Amino acid sequence: MKKILYLLMISFILTGCLLPPPPPPQTGSDPSTESQPEVNDQSSQNQNQPSATSEAESESHTHSDAAHTSDVDLTSLEIGDGKYSTTPQVGYVFSCQTNFNGQGATGQQGNWVNGDGTWNALMKAVVDGSVSWPHSFTISIQGDQRVFSSNGLPNHTTGNYPISPSDDAYTYDRNPNSISEQSITLTLPANPTVAAQPNCIGGEVGIMLSGVVLFNAFDALGRDAQVHEVQDECDGHPQQSGVYHYHALSDCLADTQTGHSALMGYAFDGFGIYGYYDEDGTEITNADLDECHGHVGLIEWDGQVVEMYHYHATHEFPYTVGCFKGTPSVRSIGGQGGQTQQGGDTTNQGQQPPQEAITACVGLSQGASCSVGNMSGTCMTPPNTSQLACVPAGGPPP
Ligand SMILES: [Zn+2]
Ligand SMILES: [Zn+2]
Repeated sequence: MKKILYLLMISFILTGCLLPPPPPPQTGSDPSTESQPEVNDQSSQNQNQPSATSEAESESHTHSDAAHTSDVDLTSLEIGDGKYSTTPQVGYVFSCQTNFNGQGATGQQGNWVNGDGTWNALMKAVVDGSVSWPHSFTISIQGDQRVFSSNGLPNHTTGNYPISPSDDAYTYDRNPNSISEQSITLTLPANPTVAAQPNCIGGEVGIMLSGVVLFNAFDALGRDAQVHEVQDECDGHPQQSGVYHYHALSDCLADTQTGHSALMGYAFDGFGIYGYYDEDGTEITNADLDECHGHVGLIEWDGQVVEMYHYHATHEFPYTVGCFKGTPSVRSIGGQGGQTQQGGDTTNQGQQPPQEAITACVGLSQGASCSVGNMSGTCMTPPNTSQLACVPAGGPPP
């Protein structure tokens, strides 16, 4: 335990001191400096409008001065492989798609997979590189709609894609795709309301303030994308049609220093996605959130403090949106159809483990001990496959 704390402290120190500062915002394109057009259509105000608290008159931010703290052990996070459901469920993705037959990352299983059904986020490989892009992103309010226009290129640097064979990340993920400019327009309700029933999510779930599309927590095989796909320093990578995207909160989106996290992006139902921290500064876990990965609380919303439903990012699966609490305006924007409906990602050819290895894990769960013939191993989903299989201690069979 001491060791883990020590590692956490070291990682804190490293994060604080060694990482380069986030790239400066580009004038005229950073959404945080974007001048929001006035909402002059007040006649449309109705019961759907969130009510502003009295604080809004004098004070327009919600964050207390509580320092951000965390009890989440980043060295032992539960792997979310196959955690999709046909009903809303905490810790799962309520997925419109439950038949995942796309392609996933090709490469060895990451050495950040602990073998007991958990993974170590502090050990995960990162795609090298620091490439700048001509970012273009605007958000405006038009009547009761929030209108987005993005070229899909981030306001931060990215790694070098395709992943180079000389990059250590190549051992684990041979993503052959390049990042390309997109033409994304999106119209969401400016003041969304909670739907009678939660709605299932597709491969894409929202757009972040960096102009980048947010995908759900899965790769194309229905496995935990954060575990099996290797992303760059800003937690993004491109899929087959060049759409640069995240599967979780990007470390390159700046959060508030204290109290409740800042707005990080919007889900396709119009509700906001906020960072890791609650009003009291503590890191949020699934236990604090509902089946869609959100809760109701005071947030800053278009310059006012309102009590409203919102999503939170967590370090726990499913990381961002588990289902739509409101009614989604779209379920796909940047992925150009079928490719992203296959769980969001299509990176490489998949293959299947030997049948005896699959059979050895029937009825067993991820991380369970198993044996094939006289070899013993662990039930896991090898990186280039879609099924739980018995993997010998030495690694996947050839
Ligand atoms: Zn909150
Ligand atoms: Zn992906």
